Amino acid sequence: MLFILGLIMGSFFNVVILRYDPKQSFFNLDHLTGRSKCVHCHKQLKWYELFPVISFMALGGKCKKCKAVLNWQYPVVEILTGLATFGVPFLLGKIFFIKQLFLTGNPIEWFVILSILWIWVFYFFIILAFIDFRHKIIPNEINFLLALFGVALVFFYNLYDKFGLASGTFVGGYAAMLGFRDNIWANHIGAAVFVFLLFLLVVVLSNGRGMGMGDVKLVGALGIIFGWPDVLLIVFLSFIIGAIYGIIILIKDKNNISRLVPFGPFLVLASALVFFGGQSILHSYFGLFGIL
Ligand SMILES: [Zn+2]
Repeated sequence: MLFILGLIMGSFFNVVILRYDPKQSFFNLDHLTGRSKCVHCHKQLKWYELFPVISFMALGGKCKKCKAVLNWQYPVVEILTGLATFGVPFLLGKIFFIKQLFLTGNPIEWFVILSILWIWVFYFFIILAFIDFRHKIIPNEINFLLALFGVALVFFYNLYDKFGLASGTFVGGYAAMLGFRDNIWANHIGAAVFVFLLFLLVVVLSNGRGMGMGDVKLVGALGIIFGWPDVLLIVFLSFIIGAIYGIIILIKDKNNISRLVPFGPFLVLASALVFFGGQSILHSYFGLFGIL
C-alpha cells in the first residue's frame, strides 16, 4: 500500500519537476494547475492514461496521438518515490524494533513521526535530483526545506532518543571510530558547517566549474539532516560516484569533456546509500584493510 501511495505521489512530483521554471519561485503553483498534456502535441491525457507506471507501459512509452517517445523520467520518478515511501519506514522499523529489544522504550509514535519526516526528506531528494539533472540548478527553496526538516529531525531525536555512540546515525558502531559524538545539536550543526565550508572551498578553488553554490547549500542541509560522521561518508561516496560517472561520460563522448555535470544527483544517491546501508558500506571498506 505504501508503495502504491508512493507511485501516486511520484506522478505528482513528475509534474513539479517537468513544469519547474528556474526563473520563478519553486512555490509558484500557477504552473501546477491544468490537466496533464503530451509535451509534443499537447493532447490532453484521458483519465485512464494517468495511472502511474501502468499507463506508461500500456502506451508502450509513446504518445497515443503523435507517437512521440515519452520521457523515461515518468516511470523512474514514480518507482523511486514508491520505493522510498515503502523502504524508508521499512528500514526505520528495523532500527526501531532492535531498539525496543534493548528497551530504550521509545513509543510507537517515535517510529511513525520519524518515518514521515524521513519520507519527506527523500521526496525532496527525488525532486531535487531530477530538477538538477534537467535544469542544472538546485532550487534554494528545496535546500531550505531540507535544512528545516533536518532541524525537525534533530529536535525529534533530542526529544526521544538518548544520543549515544551508535544512536542517531546510520553507520552504527563506526560512528565512534570516526569521532565526535557529543551533544546532538553540536554534532549536526558542526557537521553542517564543516561540509559547507569544505564545498565552499572547492567552489572557490575551482572557480565554480566543479560545482555550484546550490551544491554547497545542499551539502550543508545534508550535514544538519545526517550529522557527523554520516555526512562525511556521503561526501566521500558522492565524489566516488561522480568520478565513475565522469569516466563513463569520457568513454562515451570524448569531445564533450567540459559538459556541465550536475552534482546534486550524486549527493542524493550517496545519501540514500548511507541511509540504507551506511554500516555495511563501512564494514566492507574497513574489511579491505583487515580492520574490524
Ligand atoms: Zn503527443
